[in-house]
Amino acid sequence: MQVGILALQGDFREHAQLLSQMGADPVFVRRAEELDGIEALIIPGGESTTIGKLADRYGLLQPLRDIIADGIPTLGTCAGLIFLAAGTTGPSQIHLGVLDVVVERNAFGRQVDSFEADLAVTGLDQPLHAVFIRAPIVDKVGGDVEVLASVGDNPVMVRQGNIVATSFHPELTGETRVHRLMLTQEG
Ligand code: GLN
Repeated sequence: MQVGILALQGDFREHAQLLSQMGADPVFVRRAEELDGIEALIIPGGESTTIGKLADRYGLLQPLRDIIADGIPTLGTCAGLIFLAAGTTGPSQIHLGVLDVVVERNAFGRQVDSFEADLAVTGLDQPLHAVFIRAPIVDKVGGDVEVLASVGDNPVMVRQGNIVATSFHPELTGETRVHRLMLTQEG
């Protein structure tokens, strides 16, 4: 299965490594033509304003919106969640606007406040060990969005149709269940 990973900035290599271990075929996406033929899409963690600006500069915004609207299974992690979202509680930045949530960036504090937690996730039998690095939380969710996991009252994993998004980094812990969940979404 060919899985496109938006490779403009951030930890796209870690996603590729995990997907290879899972037997999938990762493809780095930097130009719109590279979306042709992929069967799933990942938007990695990193810095969401940079990812947005580069996606705009490389003419990727509309092609990404189209392919996601067509139903391709999509996973966004951390900055990927922010880029997929409708907006943030802070200053405006470039979003795909395909996931009906508003996020609060860096909601748990600064880099030194990064933390790990075991999460109960809807649909998973065992807790999921999650790493949060300058992570956002989901502040508002639209009617079609299902919250799959929270830290306290704060949603940190959501699903809307073909999109799964996390404020943490499953690609950094050898955790394959989130990627598997995404890959088995209805297209
Ligand atoms: N703090 C970053 C942002 O707001 C996200 C951090 C991450 O992806 N680990 O874009």
